[in-house]
Order: sequence, then structure tokens, then C-alpha cells
Amino acid sequence: MSNKLIQQEVGKRRTFAIISHPDAGKTTITEKVLLHGHLLQQAGTVKGRGSGQHAKSDWMEMEKERGISVTTSVMQFPYNECLVNLLDTPGHEDFSEDTYRTLTAVDSCLMVIDAAKGVEDRTRKLMEVTRLRDTPIITFMNKLDRDIRDPMELLDEVENELNIMCAPISWPIGCGKSFKGVYHLHRDETILYHSGLGHTIQEVRIIKGLDNPALDSAVGSDLAQQLREELELVRGASNEFDEELFLSGELTPVFFGTALGNFGVDHMLDGLTKWAPAPKPRQSSERLVEATEDNFSGFVFKIQANMDPKHRDRIAFMRVVSGQYTQGMKMKHVRIGKTVSISDAVTFMAGDRERAEEAFAGDIIGLHNHGTIQIGDTFTQGEELKFTGIPNFAPEMFRRIRLKDPLKQKQLLKGLVQLSEEGAVQVFRPLENNDLIVGAVGVLQFEVVVGRLKSEYNVEAIYEAVNVATARWVYCNDAKKLDEFQRKCSFNLALDGGDNLTYIAPTMVNLNLSMERYPDVEFAKTREH
Ligand code: GDP
Repeated sequence: MSNKLIQQEVGKRRTFAIISHPDAGKTTITEKVLLHGHLLQQAGTVKGRGSGQHAKSDWMEMEKERGISVTTSVMQFPYNECLVNLLDTPGHEDFSEDTYRTLTAVDSCLMVIDAAKGVEDRTRKLMEVTRLRDTPIITFMNKLDRDIRDPMELLDEVENELNIMCAPISWPIGCGKSFKGVYHLHRDETILYHSGLGHTIQEVRIIKGLDNPALDSAVGSDLAQQLREELELVRGASNEFDEELFLSGELTPVFFGTALGNFGVDHMLDGLTKWAPAPKPRQSSERLVEATEDNFSGFVFKIQANMDPKHRDRIAFMRVVSGQYTQGMKMKHVRIGKTVSISDAVTFMAGDRERAEEAFAGDIIGLHNHGTIQIGDTFTQGEELKFTGIPNFAPEMFRRIRLKDPLKQKQLLKGLVQLSEEGAVQVFRPLENNDLIVGAVGVLQFEVVVGRLKSEYNVEAIYEAVNVATARWVYCNDAKKLDEFQRKCSFNLALDGGDNLTYIAPTMVNLNLSMERYPDVEFAKTREH
């Protein structure tokens, strides 16, 4: 395989995810993006996608009932000269760990903000996560067909609250019932909006130039005058787009529009394909791995129960970091030191089965996992390296889990360990008793686990309250000190699903006391896979 081909393919890729607060419009904009990517003939079908070809296991039913997306899926489509990968993330914050890990597999993010509301809680949290890797952010101010807040004030809020500079690329003309369209600052043209055409790719009327009298007659002279005045202000007071600052995550280009009206989404996609970075190099414990290297490598960021109920295996989602995946190739599963032949990986190239047999950096492939793959695993073409930065977060809620039928203890443990390997939940086994403690970041995770234990492992389990307030992974380089700590604190120690030593504290006070008492022991809130 010539490196030129790899360079070409990598250069075309754009891999991104959407971050937003619930209800800001992530699902709607995903639909419109897919409409523009010709993955959907008609927008309006994404929310129902769990129902058709997909599964009917109980937890899927649960997901459907609640209208939340528990699973991460991948959508690949061509746009402009690029091949775009959009990684979906769970909307509900109870599954935020999944979202955090998905954000480690993208090269840029689209931030969708409800322009009537401004910056909201979950957006703040997710922006903190993207900061860990200085991910470039593109902003879409949504719902311009409603009465929104003052656009200048919105930009100020983003700048102050999210600590990122804003460079408006388009500027709205009116809003709500009198929303007329946007002026594109870089193209020096006004694109006019028509309501009621959101399900289609519209033919739009474009007016060149800001002083064009056609603008006055199209939007009314009041709004045209207001636009000219606002733009003068905007040009004076806000930042110009700067590619370098964008790529380092310090500045975000801002687009205005309405996802529901499918207006402005194409401007955003044009910006994304033009400016968002092609697949970036990734840090491994050994060295930085470039996307255009000849040899294949990738890491697993997500494991998901198979969507096909006839197959009991699970799919491991792998981000390709370098080289080329081809069907039937051999890969080294670095953690277990085995070489495996991958013949049936799932790829996500839309509707193009022929092309689906290869993948390059930035692409996601799905590997069938029969229990040997864990989140964070690295695959290579033989090299010993391990990609870093795929985190586990200390859970914040705990329950003791107990069987209705005590004879099935082995299945329960197996199910819990497997579910913890795919990140659905965390499990802790205290050193001093036979309890099984389940830890979660959000309460819905508990429900999903009981549902899946029943449908996939045929065990019926129930929860009981348990006196655990928080957990920390513990490390100590000094074997003697660790030994003493283990003896003295054994009642508060447990092993997690991967046999890592964990301190489970009944109260924060207890945790703080132990941290003071054992200064040589590290109590970590996150653990790298
Ligand atoms: P998510 O929770 O972020 O996925 O948000 P959704 O895409 O499900 O949108 C939440 C609600 O806002 C739905 O009722 C959408 O129809 C509505 N919505 C999304 N975009 C727009 C928009 O541009 N204008 C208006 N008026 N409503 C919108």
C-alpha cells in the first residue's frame, strides 16, 4: 500500500461528535446533517432508528420507551471533498461516561446551543472534557425561528462562560416570526430563509453584497439597516476567524440557523469540512502515532451489546489511528499479546458496501467481541504500544446487587464483569465479604444493567442500599506501604471489574481522613483503561 493513498484518504476524513444540552437540537441537526450527506432521503427518521432493523432486547425497549439513545452509533458520509464521520453520543447525562469516551475518538466537536436559552449546564461539562485534548469546536446557534436572545449577548456568554473566543461566520437577520436569513461574513452574501422546508435540501435565494438594494426589498429596510449596523459592531467587537486558534481549541467559528428549518446547517458543514482537522496523531505510552503511518493501529473506546439479538456477542468500536484496515487482515491485540484475524469487522460507509472493506485513520470499525476486548484496548500490526487517555470515572452512586435465585451467582458475576468491561456500569467486590457492589455515574445505568442481566444472562437481580458514598482507585509505588494500607483498610477495599484495587468510602469524611493518613497512597478519581 503506497503511503500516498493513505495520505490522500486521511486528508479527506473529518471525524466529529455533537455536544449540547438536552433539547438544544442535537437529534434534529443530526438528521439534517444526514440529509445533506444523503444518508437520509427525508429528515425525521433518526429518533426511530432503534425500532427498525435493530434489536428488541429489553434494554433496547427501555431505550425506546424513554426516547433516549443509550448507544453510540457512527454515521459516515461524503460531503464536499471530504468523508465525514459523525459519532453519536447518548443524550441522557446518566450515560455521560460513554459520551466522554466517545469524545476521545473524535478530532473536532460541533457545539449546538439553543439560542433562546444560551449556555446550559451539560454544555459546560462537555466543554470541560473537550478541553482535556484541546479539541477544535464549531458552534451552531440553533432555533432562530424562535424568539432568541440578543446574538451579541449570546457570543459574550459563550466567551465568558466557556472561555473560548467566538468568531461569527454568519449573522442572523431577525428571529422568530421575522427571521429572514443570515448574512455570511466570509462570502459577503445574504442567504434568505423560508419556513416550512426543513425536511428538504432547499434551493435558497442569495443576495450578494451588504449594500445591495435587493437586500432591503427582500428583508425590509428596517431589518436591512439593523443588519448593517449590527455588522459594524460585530466587526469591531468580535474576533476574526483564525485557523490556528481554532485548531488549538481557543476560538470557535459561530453559525446561526435553525436545525428544524434545515437552515444554516450546510454553512456549518462547509465550515467543518474546510477547517476541522483531518485525523490527528494520537499519544501512546511509547510514542506519538501519526495518522499517515503505513502500519495499522487503533484503540477501542466503546463496547456495545450486539444490536442483533440472534448474536450474543458484543461490538467493540475502534477508532483507527493509523494505516489501513482491510478485510481479513491480522492485528495484534496488544494487551493479551495475541494476533487475531479480523474478517468481519463492521464498517459504517453509508450505502456503499464495496468500499466498506477498508478503513483509514479517523474511521470507526466495529469488531465482534467474544469477551476478549475491553475499552481502551490497543490493536496494531505487531508493534508494542498502548494508546492513552481513555478514562474511567469514579462512580457517584452505589447499590448492592443481589440475586433472586442464589444458585446463579456465577452468571451474575460473569454478567457484571462483562458489563463493566464495556463500560455500562462498574462493579466492585469488597475484599472482606461476598457482596457485589454496582457503581454508576447516573441512576438509569442501574436499570439498564438489571434489564440486560435478565435478557442477556438470564439472571434476575435486585438492588439494595449500600453504605458507600464514593470510590477511588488506589495506587502506591512503595510495596511495603501499600501492604500496610491494605491490612489496615481492608474493610474499605474492593476489586473492580478489572481486578484493580479500589477504596470504597462510606463517607467523604472517611475518604479525606484516609487520604491524610496515607499520604503515599494515591486516591484517583479516574482510571485509564
Ligand atoms: P436533543 O435533545 O438535543 O436531541 O434535541 P432535539 O433535536 O430532540 O430537539 C428538541 C426539541 O426542539 C424538539 O421538539 C425539536 O423539534 C425542537 N427543535 C430542534 N431544533 C429546532 C429549531 O431550529 N427550531 C425550533 N423551533 N425547534 C427546534
